[in-house]
Amino acid sequence: MEYISGEILTENGFKKGYIGLDKGKIIEFGREKPKEKPIANGFIIPTLINSHTHIGDYFIKELNIKLPNNIEKLVAPPKGIKHKLLKETSEKEIINGMKESINIMSKSGISKFYDFRENGISGIQQLKEAIYDHEDISSLILSRPNHLRYHKEEIKTLLENSQGIGLSSITDWDYSEILKIAKYTKIKNKIFAIHASERIRENIDLILDLKPDFLIHMNYATESDLIRVKENNISIAICPRSNKFFKLKTNFTNMEKLDINLMLGTDNAMLNSPNIFTELAYFKKISKTHSIEKLLNMITYNPRKALNLDYNILDLKLPKEFIVLDNKTLKIIYAPIHS
Ligand SMILES: [Zn+2]
Repeated sequence: MEYISGEILTENGFKKGYIGLDKGKIIEFGREKPKEKPIANGFIIPTLINSHTHIGDYFIKELNIKLPNNIEKLVAPPKGIKHKLLKETSEKEIINGMKESINIMSKSGISKFYDFRENGISGIQQLKEAIYDHEDISSLILSRPNHLRYHKEEIKTLLENSQGIGLSSITDWDYSEILKIAKYTKIKNKIFAIHASERIRENIDLILDLKPDFLIHMNYATESDLIRVKENNISIAICPRSNKFFKLKTNFTNMEKLDINLMLGTDNAMLNSPNIFTELAYFKKISKTHSIEKLLNMITYNPRKALNLDYNILDLKLPKEFIVLDNKTLKIIYAPIHS
């Protein structure tokens, strides 16, 4: 048996100890020193989750064009530059870009990413093709219809082929259409997520009536909006580097005060690398007071909690994909499923 010692990140914080491995799988825990000299020492943590991506636009990064830092001009459907480029670009090019971002994520310890998938059913198929060869990383696909309208047949097909729906924002839509989509998604027991209050404050009652499983951004939500979010036990994914690009504030102080389940995402791959450690390093810089435990929770336990995924590093009955980080540099020093 091989041993790794250090601090194990559990749901209740770091615990000192060691793990014993057989073929890269955890089969033993201990609180004392391991019986043999460990092969590594560091933070033993669950594999990472990137809670918000749009990897379909990675190809735009390679085009080397100057992108405006105005959200509406760049990403709002249907006229934003991104959507124009997505229509003009070949499937092959889009899929190659997706493959590139999946490689970046897989190499940086990410085992799952929650992707907002544009372009209807073909967007879903493109991602499935891009990820086909990967056993070490999976996607949670939150799809969206091709037009800003509810067509039952289209939504039915999307839900049969993805884990749920991920929409732009209530401001971009006729609300009655979005409400029909959200209701149908819940009838089918699938996930519904939406960008909210990203550049302006949006009506929290309308947002909550959609019964979202989680929200993205909430930059301009007030404290009272966030209290409602907390009361409804809804998680929020924040994307600090994306906010920086668009010159928006990252609204984490109240979220933390209210103890909202916070997650980190990298947002548009054309703007920022989907490496969640880079996002974490930036957030660490702007949030200053955060403990390393709290930061790591945002990319390990919190995203799993948000979707009720069963995971406990100390429960030997559950799957335990894990990585080991150097406790100073936070670089990966051991990653069994990525080797
Ligand atoms: Zn987004």
